[in-house]
Amino acid sequence: MTSPTRITHLVAGAPWTGTAERTSEVFNPATGEQTGVLDLASAAVVGEVVATAQAAWQEWSDASLAKRTSVLFAFRHLLDSRKKDIAALITAEHGKVLDDALGEVTRGLEVAEFACGIPHLLKGGFSENASTNVDVYSIRQSLGVVAVISPFNFPAMVPMWFIPIAIACGNAVVLKPSEKDPSAALAVAALWTAAGLPDGVMNVVNGDKEAVDALLTHPDVKSVSFVGSTPIARYVYETGTAHGKRVQALGGAKNHMLVLPDADLDLAADAAVNAGFGSAGERCMAISALVAVEPIADELISKIVDRMGKLRTGDGTTGSDMGPLVTAAHRDKVAGYVAAGVESGATLVVDGRKQEFDGGAGGYFLGPTLFDRVERDMLIYSEEIFGPVLSVLRVQSYDEGLELINANPYGNGTAIFTNDGGAARRFQREVEVGMIGINVPIPVPVSYYSFGGWKNSLFGDSHAHGIEGVHFFTRGKVVTSRWLDPSHGGLNLGFPQNT
Ligand code: NAD
Repeated sequence: MTSPTRITHLVAGAPWTGTAERTSEVFNPATGEQTGVLDLASAAVVGEVVATAQAAWQEWSDASLAKRTSVLFAFRHLLDSRKKDIAALITAEHGKVLDDALGEVTRGLEVAEFACGIPHLLKGGFSENASTNVDVYSIRQSLGVVAVISPFNFPAMVPMWFIPIAIACGNAVVLKPSEKDPSAALAVAALWTAAGLPDGVMNVVNGDKEAVDALLTHPDVKSVSFVGSTPIARYVYETGTAHGKRVQALGGAKNHMLVLPDADLDLAADAAVNAGFGSAGERCMAISALVAVEPIADELISKIVDRMGKLRTGDGTTGSDMGPLVTAAHRDKVAGYVAAGVESGATLVVDGRKQEFDGGAGGYFLGPTLFDRVERDMLIYSEEIFGPVLSVLRVQSYDEGLELINANPYGNGTAIFTNDGGAARRFQREVEVGMIGINVPIPVPVSYYSFGGWKNSLFGDSHAHGIEGVHFFTRGKVVTSRWLDPSHGGLNLGFPQNT
């Protein structure tokens, strides 16, 4: 057993050299072995890092679009060439299988590619002669120091939803990754220096609530982009906005997949298994509630059970389909939900607690689990489980299914499976959810659209990346200009009117 590595903050392109007052432990979830000791930032350390970012911001915001674009292209190239190493870091601390980790890095890379088009994205409008000899035009400028606070489940991709766009827009960034798996985000952050970004524009502080609170209340932090569970997202939104910051806080989810009787049930069964158990259900876009419109539930469940029998759960580096959960405590919490489901009367069709795992004895494994006849008042339905537990709810009609989905307090993602274009079109219009799949189970928008849910899945009004990301990370100005012309002299105290 090797001794745990020290993991610290990244400030002005270099590892922090101070001594941490507090630390936490980082584990390999497939073995249970402690692999890292993480420095946790105090409020004073966060203050130092914000000051570094603030000092670097002005010069970076004055850098030409050509300069900024060249850094973004270099970053994109470096990330592409290092993506396998980053994926390995994700698997080592998060546990997801290597292919899945690589997929996450690739989706993050796409946001960097989108940000490479920043000269086009920042173009404003220009109206010549809005009034006689008067031109009006708009420009967008950077905010200053922006904070990004990310969750454990996409340690590389979620920070990348924000950071390339924030930097392209001329801001300086302080990232606080999840304390459970910080190494991938640190490795990606280090690439910015190699790409030619001036020191201090990209920084990482590791920490917990103390660091988050310091960012939320620091007067030089102008915006906060948060992704995590709903209670913390709500807290971050309320605290950040109370301190005058622009906040986008993406929260938890309970994603439904509605299967109509005319759907291709093999396609639907594949999709339910892939979206329910990929990344051990630790995706904010995972399907956790399958809503089957009768009479298809029995047939669909039997197809799902067949497919579940072929899944291998184990160490993500060894070719398994599904890895462990992120921590022992989280595995035990999810297993507790399985027990609660049985107690509340749901039918346990496949019990993930009783499977064999292809990994170390100390790994935090729990196999794919399937419940049938779940009711809306059961805990396994009303709460976000965030593990490999799929619940089937049986309904009698499209309308009943729609009502169920719309009554849920979350509104992140949803999917409909059907061969009826009219029903799908009705669903996209009537469902109160931010991201919708039509025969697509995990409808994560591409980088040039924006990612975000409705209701308790997002606090604030800006979604992540796409043009909403560019707007979030900039402030607009409108200029009304007239160059001197003697015909416009003279006093006039009236409100300006366009002539
Ligand atoms: P979490 O809320 O526990 O942690 C998220 C971040 O908040 C971390 O950086 C953490 O250090 C910090 N944090 C934790 N407790 C805090 C506190 N008391 N005060 C201030 N900050 C605190 O979430 P997680 O367990 O890391 O991630 C899983 C959750 O994230 C799930 O609920 C999932 O649905 C959600 N998620 C949502 C999206 C989305 O796009 N809506 C995407 C990914 C994950």
